Amino acid sequence: MKFSYKEITKIYEEFNKDIDSISSDDLKKKYLSKKGNLKDLLKKIGEQEKEDRAKFGKEVNILKNFIEEKVEILSSSLKPKFSKEQIDVTAPFEKNTPEDKKPKLLNKLGSTHPLTQELEKILEIFQKMGFQIEESRQIDDDYNMFQSLNFPIGHPARDNWDTFWTEENLVLPAHTSTMQNRILRKYEIPIRVVIPGRCFRNEATDASHEHTFYQIEGVYVDENISMSHMFGTIKAYLEAFFETELDIKSQPSYFPFTEPDAEFVISCPFCKKEGCSICKYTGWIEIMGCGMIHPHVLTEGGIDPKKYSGFAWGFGLDRLVMIKNGIDDIRKLHSGELEFLDQF
Ligand SMILES: [Zn+2]
Repeated sequence: MKFSYKEITKIYEEFNKDIDSISSDDLKKKYLSKKGNLKDLLKKIGEQEKEDRAKFGKEVNILKNFIEEKVEILSSSLKPKFSKEQIDVTAPFEKNTPEDKKPKLLNKLGSTHPLTQELEKILEIFQKMGFQIEESRQIDDDYNMFQSLNFPIGHPARDNWDTFWTEENLVLPAHTSTMQNRILRKYEIPIRVVIPGRCFRNEATDASHEHTFYQIEGVYVDENISMSHMFGTIKAYLEAFFETELDIKSQPSYFPFTEPDAEFVISCPFCKKEGCSICKYTGWIEIMGCGMIHPHVLTEGGIDPKKYSGFAWGFGLDRLVMIKNGIDDIRKLHSGELEFLDQF
């Protein structure tokens, strides 16, 4: 048989006409099936003269590849992108999870943790009152945690702070006061700073104790600052937080880094001193420790206690959030239980 491109060209032209008028399935049948046009052409390779066989075969294969490629493109562009069984691996997890297998809570958007929600509100209140914010740290040294706060080495009051120590003699802060010396040195007077931070205590957990919790410290230093400024400032903050007017009183307390020291007590924001489960039927709630910053602590922070005075407080964020929301077990806050968190 004499070599000719005629057969190849004929099929090429025919295919180009068919492409617009028949479906990809029919194109496959007509050109690529066992009884298709190309099969006839492939058979003809063997019928060529010996010297033309390779050339003819090559041309037929080019046409075959061209037709296969076109048919493939046509059929894939007509196919739906993802059939029911297929999984889009780039989609978020719940898109690939059948409705009946989705965990109930995944059907809704997530939310911030109740502690985060309240912390943001609290910091906003203090910012409106003119305070700056400084974050505490999660590991510190003996000097900042104790010595600079008037707990010299060997002081018995250290025993009241059951802390975790590392082998390098570093400490996981048991209170946000670990930042006081840095604050006194860093800021210009008047100093008005609140310090939120994570704290750690080496203690057994129960409904009202956790080994990890959050505190918010306040530091205020200026000329002629007295305890009445302290009571007024804390009262204004707590009234904004509980969104109600409060009566206040104080009880004596003891901290090495303040003198005098006080326990700040508020009238129960829920029962107005009538007595309820939140205030344990006393009408009053102890809310935080506070006091006038000890002269030694001011001196250690580079501030002259003869010229300036100030106050500081520290309260537990977890406890405040529990009181405000009637949560009875502190451990729920760190449990990660979706049924609990979903309520906020
Ligand atoms: Zn009450």
